[in-house]
Amino acid sequence: MHQLEKIAKKVQGCKNCKLCETRTNAVPGKGNFDADVIFVGEAPGRNEDQCGEPFVGAAGKKLDAILEYAGINRNDVYITNIVKCRPPNNRVPTKEEEVSCIDYIKKEIEIINPKIICVMGNTAYGTLLGGKEITKNHGQVIEKEGKKFFATFHPAATIYNKKLVDELQKDFKKLARFLEDEDRIKQFEDRRCDFCMAKTKHEVLVMPKIVTRKRRWLFKCTECNHERWLQPYRTVAESLY
Ligand code: URA
Ligand code: SF4
Repeated sequence: MHQLEKIAKKVQGCKNCKLCETRTNAVPGKGNFDADVIFVGEAPGRNEDQCGEPFVGAAGKKLDAILEYAGINRNDVYITNIVKCRPPNNRVPTKEEEVSCIDYIKKEIEIINPKIICVMGNTAYGTLLGGKEITKNHGQVIEKEGKKFFATFHPAATIYNKKLVDELQKDFKKLARFLEDEDRIKQFEDRRCDFCMAKTKHEVLVMPKIVTRKRRWLFKCTECNHERWLQPYRTVAESLY
């Protein structure tokens, strides 16, 4: 049995906090065990409590639509919540409940080891990053304890506030771009930058489709970020023939 399946089993039988008394089903995380990105919500709602899966109700529909808009496939990602059982009447989970449940999400993150963790809404933002106001800090990659996080609104917020749809879409596009950038195999050449004069790595940003030394490629100095079209040296060009 996969380690994540073992965690799911534990969650299903968990009695670490009072929420076990009112739940129908506990809701473990679900998705791709090799995901590049984990999405973290707050807690299960009514539909999730009924069927034992995260983000299947109204908030799930919103999440699906935004993922599709950003070109992210739900089958490629892992989706979970800070608290795995539904709080009565969908109230915000208490600190005590969060503390009782936190080890599960810590283990999920550790096992999957994704490129980035997308925290959605104030509960996830507060619990995992100690942040308060998502409205002021959304749309950014945040580094903490060697891990990368991306903070954005909770998809359910768009049900009540239509203005947030635009913002959430922009954030998800940013996140998709981050994931694409991580996938791109970077090419570098050592050379002197004639802008900042540092002898340093230059990243290849644009390489013509036909690889030849006579064509100019777009290089970026990793010291000052100055970009210039240059003829590549033999070393990089040859490795690509
Ligand atoms: N809202 C959440 O935060 N999580 C769910 O799973 C469903 C709704
Ligand atoms: Fe256990 Fe978390 Fe459910 Fe509380 S919310 S009973 S800690 S799984």
